[in-house]
Amino acid sequence: MGRRCAFVRLGGCNLSCRWCDTPYTWDWTGTADSGVAYDPRQELTPMPWAEVLRKLLDYDVPLIVISGGEPLSQQRRMLPLIRELTAAGRQIEIETNGTVVPRDDLVSLGVRFNVSPKLAHSGDPESRRLVPEALRALAAVPGTAFKFVCRNTGDLDEVASAVERYGTEPVWIMPEGQLPAEVGRHLADLGDEVVARGWNLTTRLHVAVWGDRRGV
Ligand code: SF4
Repeated sequence: MGRRCAFVRLGGCNLSCRWCDTPYTWDWTGTADSGVAYDPRQELTPMPWAEVLRKLLDYDVPLIVISGGEPLSQQRRMLPLIRELTAAGRQIEIETNGTVVPRDDLVSLGVRFNVSPKLAHSGDPESRRLVPEALRALAAVPGTAFKFVCRNTGDLDEVASAVERYGTEPVWIMPEGQLPAEVGRHLADLGDEVVARGWNLTTRLHVAVWGDRRGV
């Protein structure tokens, strides 16, 4: 958090979390809490990977974060882009909801996975949001971190259960919220218990700075 980086945000997601803060990447029917049915023709921009590469190298930053939506749904097609970026000396982090097993040829490129498994308050059924073989495969990749979005201390028992069942460590707890007051309230509610459980605590820096304003 706080590092200079460039973001690639890919469209499409295999989950539909009710509090999703990027529903414009997947919600074409208004099922998330925002209730907005986004138009994929407005939101998605098809682009050849070589053009994405050129734009990213133009930013001249050391770190590229690939997010979504669920980027691993497009992992095969991301391979040439990631190969070229790593050859150009860029570090790559992929944000994923942890429901897709990463390909060996992607892992071997040395990418880092920031995995955010979803808890019950996402509204997604457990069979869709917790995929044991994907979580275990991601946990086995060196450098992987697991970031759980939580609202209150009751959510932390679900996190402990995931750690026990799937080995989802190291654990980071991030407060849910799309506005600074909401994030601050959840952070205050969670802080002591997260410390007591020996986990890491983080916040949402972009919300503190920009609120829920969407970037370009
Ligand atoms: S997994 Fe992420 S992008 Fe997909 S619906 Fe949930 S919060 Fe949104």
